[in-house]
Amino acid sequence: MIKGNAELRKYTTIYPKTVYTINSWDDYRAYGSTLLKQSNNSKLGKVVSKGAFKGKPLYSLSLVERLMGCPKNCHHWGACYGNNMPFAHRFKTDSGLAFTEILRDELHNLTKKHKQGIHIRLHVLGDFFSKEYINFWKIILILYPKISIYGYTAHTPHSHLGLEIKNVIDKIGFDRFAIRFSNSTIKLSANSTEYKPRLIASKNVSLKSIQCLEQIDKVANCVSCALCWNKKVDNVLFYTH
Ligand code: SF4
Repeated sequence: MIKGNAELRKYTTIYPKTVYTINSWDDYRAYGSTLLKQSNNSKLGKVVSKGAFKGKPLYSLSLVERLMGCPKNCHHWGACYGNNMPFAHRFKTDSGLAFTEILRDELHNLTKKHKQGIHIRLHVLGDFFSKEYINFWKIILILYPKISIYGYTAHTPHSHLGLEIKNVIDKIGFDRFAIRFSNSTIKLSANSTEYKPRLIASKNVSLKSIQCLEQIDKVANCVSCALCWNKKVDNVLFYTH
């Protein structure tokens, strides 16, 4: 049975009490905590222990699933794993400018605090919501060489925002902006196992896939795995939650 209020599930999270709207510094002060959270999630882990980013603490950002950035054609729209996260704080904004100004302030402070830099998981929930927002992350990566990012997007590679994401990958490099296209037939993607038959059925596509190592108990967490931000890995496969 699919969880939650069927009406809410059409366009937002099924946990409306966990949503914080950040349209100004006043909203931010009223919220009283940070937007970027140091990971305490057992699947993600806390500090990268493998590869080029070894030693960087992992931070993450969660937006409101379905409402913030998620394209309606997302393969997991109704069954989003946010349906299983009743306690996660999710952010919503109608003012990308205020939101990114606050994020930039946090990022600046985090790079002072962590001289080795930080690795960021975008987005645990939600997705890139505008061209300006994508451009914000590009500027951050240019300004702060010790910040790196990984994550997944449900925007298709040829959609308006997908092309913007691709531009940032091309400009910055997948090493530091490791955003994989979900359920896609291109290289540097991340697919659900149930999507794989479609992948195989696609003409002229031969992606080498690796099953998520945490899901098959080969690693404890992402920070000790690092496959998702390795550009040699064409495609990561996930069992659907
Ligand atoms: S493949 Fe590795 S890095 Fe990617 S989600 Fe699984 S454990 Fe995390």
